[in-house]
Amino acid sequence: MIVAERKPFEEIKESIKDYRKVLVLGCGTCVSVCMAGGEKEVGLLATELRMNAGLEKRDIEIMEATIQRQCDKEYIEPILEQARGCEAILSLGCGAGVQLVAEMLETMPVLPGLNTRFIGITEAEGAWSERCRACGDCVLATFGGICPVARCSKGLINGPCGGNQGGKCEAGGDKDCAWELIYHRLKKQGRLANLRKTAQLRNYATNAHPARQVNEAYQTPEKAGVKS
Ligand code: SF4
Ligand code: SF4
Repeated sequence: MIVAERKPFEEIKESIKDYRKVLVLGCGTCVSVCMAGGEKEVGLLATELRMNAGLEKRDIEIMEATIQRQCDKEYIEPILEQARGCEAILSLGCGAGVQLVAEMLETMPVLPGLNTRFIGITEAEGAWSERCRACGDCVLATFGGICPVARCSKGLINGPCGGNQGGKCEAGGDKDCAWELIYHRLKKQGRLANLRKTAQLRNYATNAHPARQVNEAYQTPEKAGVKS
């Protein structure tokens, strides 16, 4: 899932300071699971904004709504009318969600309330960690299901640097060296030979940005350039 965290309150407050009617818009999918932008977080932020406005004697109306997904037009459409009645939208969706809402409400300021951080897993209750950078050329098969792109601090694809200290990465913190993890995983699987191959080359052209994909089943003959 996409993992995000709420921006600092002061930054959010500053971003909406010129508006008198703001819709705080949550997203019920990834950012809800990571407790950053779901219905509950919308309620908490809206309350905090109202209380702060009261204390500072500012005239602002804060409205609330949470839709299932902000990255999907069909879920945004039902709240368009409500949104158009506001001066700005404070989106608690991920960066993709904010952009689609902004695209559908082009004349309206759509402001991000979150910082989108990574694609990750739930490690423990209330803790998430990065596992994938959506590189478009997955090498997990070679490296025992451990991603060097996302989990090595330097994104090294051809083996460890010299900075491994007792299994930890020199980049600091408590981070395990991804390449040591890869070594032990491949050893368990009897596939250490994978590491003896010449330097792994990545095809960076596979994920030119902005990336786009269309499922074949939805490819019309016209789009595919097929003449009838
Ligand atoms: S190799 Fe690329 S696609 Fe595969 S997990 Fe790592 S970043 Fe994601
Ligand atoms: S110590 Fe390991 S994880 Fe850290 S940068 Fe070097 S190879 Fe990557």
